[in-house]
Amino acid sequence: MSILYDLHSHSTASDGTLSPTALVERARAQGVDVLALTDHDVTDGLDEARRAAREAGLRLINGVEISVTWHGVTVHIVGLGFDPADVRLQAGLARLREFRAWRGEEIARRLEKKGISGALAGAQAFSNGQILSRTHFARFLVEQGHAKDMRKVFGKFLTHNRPGHVPGEWAALAEAVDWIRGAGGQAVIAHPARYRLSATRLRALIEDFMDCGGEVLEVVSGSHSAGDVQGMARYARRYGLLASQGSDYHGPEQSWLALGRMPPMPAGCTPVWTSWDNEQRASA
Ligand code: AMP
Ligand code: MN
Ligand code: MN
Ligand code: MN
Repeated sequence: MSILYDLHSHSTASDGTLSPTALVERARAQGVDVLALTDHDVTDGLDEARRAAREAGLRLINGVEISVTWHGVTVHIVGLGFDPADVRLQAGLARLREFRAWRGEEIARRLEKKGISGALAGAQAFSNGQILSRTHFARFLVEQGHAKDMRKVFGKFLTHNRPGHVPGEWAALAEAVDWIRGAGGQAVIAHPARYRLSATRLRALIEDFMDCGGEVLEVVSGSHSAGDVQGMARYARRYGLLASQGSDYHGPEQSWLALGRMPPMPAGCTPVWTSWDNEQRASA
């Protein structure tokens, strides 16, 4: 029997809509054997997820998805298998959450100028308080009828040159990779095809990432097309990067996405979990 891995998912600890327990139970029901909970800039869901995983008979991998600014582009770096108690990692994530809180106030001020009031409290009502995400603003704006659905609302309000877009600096690439590796984890470039970088820029990102000690490329992602998966597989092979896979599940509202449902890992890639098996053998 092959083992089903889903190494990218979100809970209510960040911008997902399922609690860590409900997420784990749903993953198990979908046949996932190994799940990473990778909330944005926060690890508070991991304790609950670990308890639920023990109950459900599923292996939980500690995860996080760190927001990074790389040459003006927002890039997401997933961390896998780190120690969540690591002080430097937690201090770094706390700094990003502070930026999120300030940015949330700024988004609300800008929306207010466009005649949309109450956005801060409205977005906060969709958040459990650990982090404030654009997703929470999006849900508020859709609820208030300012946009038809979650796809439309980002294009209308929350992306570049839109009223609710706030520029700012997340972590540096080297910082994010250091925090993860310093805590004993592996760093992953999340959904690399989603940044719409030119081939030259994507190579530069990968090379910078590897110079910092990054080892893994998320080849298979719920937000990659079949062509993206093949393209990212070529980069992983060419650079000798380990390959990860994850749905990037945020909840059942994303009807086009399901936990554990992804295209197969392309041939010739070395899945990230083979490095874990080696570790286990080494320590056995
Ligand atoms: P933030 O990290 O707060 O800036 O929010 C980014 C999150 O918003 C991502 O993790 C996605 O969950 C969501 N998101 C970003 N762009 C879109 C989009 N075009 N449509 C739907 N969700 C999006
Ligand atoms: Mn998200
Ligand atoms: Mn992401
Ligand atoms: Mn994600």
